[in-house]
Amino acid sequence: MNTAPISLALHGGAGTINRDQMSPEKEANYRATLQLALQTGYALLEKGASALDAVEATVKVLEDSPLFNAGKGAVFTNTGTHEMDASIMDGSNLEAGAVAGVSGIKNPISLSRMVMEKSEHVLLMGEGALEFAKTQNIAQENADYFYDELRFNQLQEAKKNNVTQLDHSPLNEKKYGTVGAVALDVQGNIAAATSTGGMTNKKFGRVGDSPIIGAGNYANNATCAVSCTGSGEFFIRGVVAYDVSCLMEYKGLSLEDACNEVVHNRLLKINGDGGLVAVDAQGNVSLPFNTSGMYRAAKTSEGIDFVEIYK
Ligand code: ASP
Repeated sequence: MNTAPISLALHGGAGTINRDQMSPEKEANYRATLQLALQTGYALLEKGASALDAVEATVKVLEDSPLFNAGKGAVFTNTGTHEMDASIMDGSNLEAGAVAGVSGIKNPISLSRMVMEKSEHVLLMGEGALEFAKTQNIAQENADYFYDELRFNQLQEAKKNNVTQLDHSPLNEKKYGTVGAVALDVQGNIAAATSTGGMTNKKFGRVGDSPIIGAGNYANNATCAVSCTGSGEFFIRGVVAYDVSCLMEYKGLSLEDACNEVVHNRLLKINGDGGLVAVDAQGNVSLPFNTSGMYRAAKTSEGIDFVEIYK
């Protein structure tokens, strides 16, 4: 039996998530999908798969669910389209791949991985990213696949109020969530993956933190792997994912202390709301958030095993 530790942590978005807005049935749905994603990634790690494979597979389960703001559940832009952002990073060699503002891609996280592995670039956007996708035979879907009535109603509401709306703002009650995962594999390598539809009613080619390496996503075997969720603008300004890594590397903080310092102190100082999931090369996990809830789950060979929603 292998004794090297393995760990997986994931999120399905942070925000104003209150028990009183949730029916038991809806909550059960969320929990089941989070559990499925957790199990999918963890089973791969148990079989000896790489952290990279585990985070990609985990995020794909969440992208394929309409419950979360990524892939199939992505929110609408101002013009009624879907522009998705995603990124992935390998902590063993600091390789990374990302896409921004892509439409019609079933699993943007897999396209990110192809950018990392099959192109000489890190971040591809819009039409160019789609051209690249065509060369990689990646699964595409038409607009019907991404249409969701609730998402469409959220757009109408956001337009009426003339706001660009985070998926987890109080104005829109029902669905939350950018998705992400971090993992440690038996080889001792860590990886992070993040995928999102961004903000409802976003315009002007707005891009959030999720595809920005160091802001919404980061992995380095020497420190940690981090995937973020929340108001992307603040996560970009706070260089949040990299800041957690820096606190560990330069100040010698533990994973837990570094995550808490960033989420509960530094982010709050600039009014940033959200959270993150993180893992280090020893298998510790940390899932802090400064909102009322964050869809989250974790499982480790040290016995941690949970799916949670509220504070
Ligand atoms: N961070 C994402 C963005 O700003 C949104 C989210 O986490 O829900 O695009």
